Amino acid sequence: MYGPKDHGWIEVIVGPMYSGKSEELIRRIRRAKIARQKVQVFKPEIDNRYSIDDIVSHCGEKEGAIAIKNSEEILEFLKKDIDVIAVDEVQFFNENIINILTKISNGGKRVICAGLDMDFRGEPFGSVPKLMAIAEFVDKLQAICMCCGNPATRTQRLIDGKPANYNESVILIGAKESYEARCRKCHCVPKDEV
Ligand code: ADP
Ligand code: ZN
Repeated sequence: MYGPKDHGWIEVIVGPMYSGKSEELIRRIRRAKIARQKVQVFKPEIDNRYSIDDIVSHCGEKEGAIAIKNSEEILEFLKKDIDVIAVDEVQFFNENIINILTKISNGGKRVICAGLDMDFRGEPFGSVPKLMAIAEFVDKLQAICMCCGNPATRTQRLIDGKPANYNESVILIGAKESYEARCRKCHCVPKDEV
């Protein structure tokens, strides 16, 4: 996979948190740059985990990126002579990301995107399942389960050290929130009976 000849394509990298999605995206960006291809990197503005203008892996590797408010801004910022477009944390964009990445790849560019395939409940995350369906290449990565050491496919949300409830609100005030990688068996999402 070095560069499109007469059409582009879409590559998708998915998995839970800590599975190495950002690491893999950074590796592909660097290889393209070594081959003197022009790369533009985007990320949603909400992900200010470590840095506003970089994509950063959990082990500290980083690459410069443009932080954007919505998927439409990819078309606004996209330069004409670009060969490769990379998008990290793709699960945070609205459904229009599908049309935008389709248009860009139809136009002859290589598109690489990375994101969570499941939310903390273990349910498909936003537009990512659709992106996986229309992509030419899909890589589903695993982390290592923090409880049992099996391959981890899910992201465990913890609030003050305890598994977050299915209906727990996304924004929490005064609580300590953390995430860890877990396998199917150790992933735990308590649900209140109604
Ligand atoms: P992602 O983008 O999928 O969240 P990153 O590329 O940012 O993943 O981080 C991957 C790195 O996270 C690994 O190389 C490792 O250093 C670290 N890590 C922390 N916890 C785990 C775990 N449970 N399993 C595997 N790697 C882990
Ligand atoms: Zn486990």
